[in-house]
Amino acid sequence: MDPRIRDDFPILSRTVNGRSLVYLDSAATSQKPSAVIEAESRLYRESYANVRRGVYTLAAEATDLYEGARAKVAALIGAKADEVVFTHGTTEALNLAAWALGETRVGPGDEILVTEMEHHANLIPWQEAARRRGASLRAVTVAPSGELDLGDFRKKLSPRTKVVALVHVSNVLGTVNPVRQVADAAHAVDAVVVVDAAQSVPHMPVGMGELGADLVAFSGHKMLGPTGIGVLWGRREVLRELPPLITGGEMIREVWLDRAMWDDPPARFEGGTPPIAQAAALGAAVDYLQTLGMDEVRMHGHELTTRALDGLAARPYVQVYGPRDPVARGALVAFNLKGIHPHDVATLLDGEGIAIRAGNHCAQPLHRRLGAPATCRASFYVYNTADEVQAFLAALDRVWKALG
Ligand code: PMP
Repeated sequence: MDPRIRDDFPILSRTVNGRSLVYLDSAATSQKPSAVIEAESRLYRESYANVRRGVYTLAAEATDLYEGARAKVAALIGAKADEVVFTHGTTEALNLAAWALGETRVGPGDEILVTEMEHHANLIPWQEAARRRGASLRAVTVAPSGELDLGDFRKKLSPRTKVVALVHVSNVLGTVNPVRQVADAAHAVDAVVVVDAAQSVPHMPVGMGELGADLVAFSGHKMLGPTGIGVLWGRREVLRELPPLITGGEMIREVWLDRAMWDDPPARFEGGTPPIAQAAALGAAVDYLQTLGMDEVRMHGHELTTRALDGLAARPYVQVYGPRDPVARGALVAFNLKGIHPHDVATLLDGEGIAIRAGNHCAQPLHRRLGAPATCRASFYVYNTADEVQAFLAALDRVWKALG
């Protein structure tokens, strides 16, 4: 990756606590290039109106930008535009999937299968669906290597399984799950496969055809885009059978006083005024990523993660969580300094302008399995450099010297 792209990200030139900002928390949210910031403000300055309903020029321009963004997202993930539903983020997309599948596919005595490494966003909606429908929720075990225990998955998968919901890349372990393999087995028992791709779509080429899932969720803000917009991709036949979670204007075909007829997807799932400016900005983010090339994005993340993993492994006071092989990983690494609270590590690093995350990363059951209430997490993206990884590792030595 050409380090000059850093100039595209205005925030990276600021200082924090008197030091150059080293931002290593892109798994929580990514920074934005000027092209994205400009696209959002340009829409408000030049082409703002509500979408879909207007017949005047401004409304048509706003609608073109909104639908244009949908087409760009679809192209990024190898999908058709009408399979891309805009939501407010991964969390909303997964809530929509869990609610709608609960209504159509899950009944008393059925089972929903998740994994122990889920973010709460891909766990709690399924807990709620199971509770509402009198079904039970089961979880595939995570092996000590940080990988899914596929033997346990095969044991727990049965004709009672109606939904298999799993994360593509774990936001704690970095594990890249074999979604295709899981999906093929799940489809053999007629289960629907839902994938949380919040940490994969921003970082690697992900084609919906190859992935093999039925519903896939991700967020704009983790892929250089703005907050307030995300995606639920769905296989056309699957989306068509699902009821809407949000009802109201713009998602209907015909309305009577006592009932209504839903519109086709994706409009069916986009009731009310959608995130118009955010869509325009997400379109710009996708353009930016496409210009870099998703293979290049993945390679850069892989290089930085390899450096970080090597550096951490060379420090006996560090415990690393997740697969040791960087090939099996997304661009993040969770770790602890032995006997030191992660918040203390993050606070001392912040004193040097280095931003990492500390906590349970919205994955409490996984942390219970790891035997650690909390971890530190450093995560990397297109604008990070090898020098920054080095600065982070050197700063850890100072933290250990001070507190170890
Ligand atoms: N799933 C995973 C794996 C995540 O990392 C995140 C973000 N931390 C989410 C879901 C939730 O995404 P959002 O907050 O954008 O809805």
